[in-house]
Amino acid sequence: KTFEDFDFNRQVLNAIADAGYETPTPIQEKAIPPILNGQDVLGIAQTGTGKTAAYVLPMIMKLKYAKGNDIRGLIVAPTRELAMQIAENVKAYSKYTDLRSYVIYGGLGPKTQIEEIKKGLDILITTPGRFMDLYLEGYIVTKKLEILVLDEADKMMDMGFMPQINKILEVVPHKRQNMLFSATMSERIEKLAENFLLWPTKIEV
Ligand code: AMP
Repeated sequence: KTFEDFDFNRQVLNAIADAGYETPTPIQEKAIPPILNGQDVLGIAQTGTGKTAAYVLPMIMKLKYAKGNDIRGLIVAPTRELAMQIAENVKAYSKYTDLRSYVIYGGLGPKTQIEEIKKGLDILITTPGRFMDLYLEGYIVTKKLEILVLDEADKMMDMGFMPQINKILEVVPHKRQNMLFSATMSERIEKLAENFLLWPTKIEV
């Protein structure tokens, strides 16, 4: 298997080549085709398996180019560090597209974040709390959201973010594609998957 076997365009393939990736990792091999097909995905994978690229690459392929001002892709992660790391990957993988991405998180004033959001965004990466704050203040519009990713969902649960996650799920459109990633499978992840995903493809690596 090579990345050329997926339905990726030149823009995505060139970014993958620049990143130095030669072959897809197991999670990428299994997750990319169903995500490109528009299916919901439940991925059980640890950090280090290439899980970020497994959902970001098809997300970029699907959103393709900048459109309007409101976010179409949303990635929720437990910590500022992980959110920043995901945002760096999104920037690298979308370098040959005009897609606009940005990362927001708590712990510092929202002024710059608000200014950046106002310029228009396609993909937003966020920690759970800061998203809801800026949403409730009217800076984030979710009407155009097409793809929602919850990354390291087990960690978000451990950190007590379930109320914020549930609030996010209440304010996003019904018709959307979902991805749920967790390092471990457990009863509570199963329950979240039941609420959050529609006929998901389950992938374990
Ligand atoms: P992740 O599990 O998403 O945190 O990724 C772990 C590391 O693997 C990151 O440094 C990625 O840049 C790298 N990576 C992701 N996919 C591939 C691939 N197909 N080939 C080589 N390295 C990869």
